[in-house]
Amino acid sequence: MNTKVLNISYILGLCKRLREFSPENRDDFHRYNVMYYQFFMTIALSGGCLAAIMCLYSDYLLNGTIMPTLIPRLSLLIPLGLFLFFNTRITNYKLMIATNHILCHCVLLSTIWAVYHLENKTYFTAGTITIHIIMWTLCFSSRFSDAFVSYLFFFAEILISHNFNHYENLKILLAINIPCAFAVLFAQIILNLITFDHYLAIRQMEKEAVTDELTQVGNRVLLDEITDKESKSITRPAALIMLDIDHFKNVNDKYGHIVGDNVLKFIADYVKKSVRKDDYVIRFGGEEFLVILNNCSVAEATKTINKIRVSISKDPKSPVPITISAGLSEYKGDYENALKLADEALYEAKNNGRNKVVVHA
Ligand code: GH3
Ligand code: MG
Ligand code: MG
Repeated sequence: MNTKVLNISYILGLCKRLREFSPENRDDFHRYNVMYYQFFMTIALSGGCLAAIMCLYSDYLLNGTIMPTLIPRLSLLIPLGLFLFFNTRITNYKLMIATNHILCHCVLLSTIWAVYHLENKTYFTAGTITIHIIMWTLCFSSRFSDAFVSYLFFFAEILISHNFNHYENLKILLAINIPCAFAVLFAQIILNLITFDHYLAIRQMEKEAVTDELTQVGNRVLLDEITDKESKSITRPAALIMLDIDHFKNVNDKYGHIVGDNVLKFIADYVKKSVRKDDYVIRFGGEEFLVILNNCSVAEATKTINKIRVSISKDPKSPVPITISAGLSEYKGDYENALKLADEALYEAKNNGRNKVVVHA
């Protein structure tokens, strides 16, 4: 097994792949990322809020009382409560990212409010550093643009609050916070690429789990998934076709198994290219393929499969001259019954001279 090593060239490669991703795929990646990390975000943000409330003790050390900052600090419980309430109800990932960042800003705003009541405001600089820790945590599920906009708000909030909080050390405050923001934004880019790497690996594994290695069409795992009673993958009217290569054993015997494999790949490829994107082509067994045509009447399906049968038998690109037989039945929701009927029809096609499509009456 090769061990993956993250280095500059690998990171640049990921960058290139992400840029080449279509907007829909990119959307899928970000949604996946947000969903995966949201539980972590909830825990981390709740922890951040509680830590900000616990600053009441440092307020006490500075002011000698907690009374002036009690309301500003405890006010954070309201956005936290709202966040926890809506968190499990929001399904839009962009909204999830927004609520995460809003809660982070609530931490900053309540701190600014508390600092207003502090006699010594110099420690605000230290307080702002904790916001970067929360921002760093948010990097796991945010996009760069989210973190960037969030930081614009971060600095705007500090600068606006300077009008009433009059930070004596504003220059130092900014001199410390600006590099921190750059560091977090840089981490955001790298973290996004690392999570993108994980996303690619998982999607690849998911694809391989339902793909037949030789022919690259679906396998029995996919078949089980789509024919599950709960699954909504098949839209009726639908047709189920059992397709079998004629005298395939002779191909292996005459030309060898490598040529036989090439014929299987050719047929699988041909059928896949000839059907629509939401139809299914599955390698059922050795040289048998199951085709499920979604949203397709029996008459249309018969036409389609007959066209495929004729063109395969005439295609000069076929590794060796080959014909196929097919049995077709209507899929009415009961997979086992449809398969049995298609099998019977295929049997009839084979018994009546092969290179035929038979529809189960
Ligand atoms: P029929 O027209 O009745 O379907 O005859 P047939 O020879 O196609 O059917 P049979 O079931 O007798 O033979 C199927 C052959 O498919 C036997 C097996 O060696 C071959 N086969 C199954 N899987 C593979 C594979 O992955 N690669 C290759 N090259 N051959 C395979
Ligand atoms: Mg056969
Ligand atoms: Mg067979």
